[in-house]
Order: sequence, then C-alpha cells, then structure tokens
Amino acid sequence: MSNKIIIAIDGFSSCGKSTLAKALAAKLEYVFIDTGAMYRAIALYFSRNNISLLDPTAIANALSQIQLHFEYNPHTLKSDMYLNGENVELQIREMQVSSKVSEVAAIAAVRNFAVAQQQAMGQHKGIVMDGRDIGTVVFPQAELKIFVTADPAIRVNRRLLELQATDPAITIEAVAENLQHRDHIDSTRAHSPLRQAADALVLDNTHINKEEQLEMALKWARERIAHD
Ligand code: C5P
Repeated sequence: MSNKIIIAIDGFSSCGKSTLAKALAAKLEYVFIDTGAMYRAIALYFSRNNISLLDPTAIANALSQIQLHFEYNPHTLKSDMYLNGENVELQIREMQVSSKVSEVAAIAAVRNFAVAQQQAMGQHKGIVMDGRDIGTVVFPQAELKIFVTADPAIRVNRRLLELQATDPAITIEAVAENLQHRDHIDSTRAHSPLRQAADALVLDNTHINKEEQLEMALKWARERIAHD
C-alpha cells in the first residue's frame, strides 16, 4: 500500500480503542501506538520517585530524566512500553498506576512532553494511534479519525475481565469507580480535554463484536487510503 495515512482513535477509558487500533494496524501493516501507555509510564516514574504534582520544577526535572520507547514483543504480538530501558508493560496496567494517571496526564508539561514524541512517531504516516486527544491535538490533520464509544456498563465488565487475569481480587466497584474518575478528569481538564473531533466518525461497539468493529474501521481506512 503506497498512500500511507494517519489514523487517530480516541474515546473514553476501556471502550476497546487499543484492541481496534492494534488490529487495524496489523491489517494495514501500520505502526500501532498506545499513547495511554506513555502517560502510564510517566505516572509510574512520578510515583516511584515521589514527584509532587504541585511542584513544576520537580516535574520538569523528572521529565528530563524520562526516556520512553516501545519494543515489539513477539509473544504478545504487541509493543511493550519501556521506561528508561526497563520493560514496564505489566506495572503500568496495575490499579495503582490507573488511579493516578489521569492527574498526571492533566499536567501541561507532561502533555507537551508526550505529544512532541507522538508527533515525531507519525511524521512518516502509516500509523494508528489511540488516546484521548489524537484527532484534536496530536494529529488534527489525520486522514481518518474514529471516536470509539460503548455503553458504560459494558466497558466496566470488559475492563474487569482484563484486570482479573492478573488480579483475581479486583472488584467491579473498584473498576467502575476508576473508569468514572478517569473519564471525568480526562474530559474536564483544561489542557487538551477528551472530546470528539468535529470530523471524527463515531464507532459505538456496544452491540458489535471485535471482528465487526474491525471491518467497519477497515472499510473507512481503505476509502481514505484510496483517496489520499
Ligand atoms: O488509554 P489508557 O486508558 O491506558 O490511558 C490512561 C490515561 O492516560 C487516561 O485515562 C488519560 O488520563 C491519559 N491519556 C491522555 N491522553 C492520551 C492517552 C491517555 O490523557 N492521548
């Protein structure tokens, strides 16, 4: 495929964005970037180093010490997140990070740090990036923007199943509370709040399965690629 495009996938927490983005990238032979993993890795660094979220100097110093990169994992067929050379893919999914990440991601300096790297990753196009502000801030010029949504109860159940694989003690109440908390901060923060781009296509996957959702997105992508 010669005409490479940028595909931006945004939406609330746990509505299947990463699943869709990963499958779409595999079909198109594009690079998949999970930007949430980057904010999670930064939140992990802040928590390990007791960085106060109210101290701009400490935040700037901490950011200058952080190196992020993705590395392909042949076992999971997905890229793992590395923080200063350490594979932190499992740690960043833990509730301890999930409960802090949205406060960290609301800080302007943190966003500027992450967005600059995300934009550099997309400079040659051929990328599927998922997050909260990809179609609005990171790549407002993306050829295809998809806003994924799903019924809140379905999202809680999907996330619960995912987390139970590594934490059998996790409760549905804790998962629901965390999703609500993150959605609220993500959509009300001053800097790059989560919102649907005016030119985004909405994909509600409440009543469709992964394969159907992928078919829909692939059709949109192929139309854009053909016209680019
Ligand atoms: O996508 P995921 O749920 O892993 O993202 C974790 C958190 O990172 C989100 O709740 C949000 O606070 C933040 N995030 C963001 N902008 C992005 C991606 C994630 O603010 N582009």
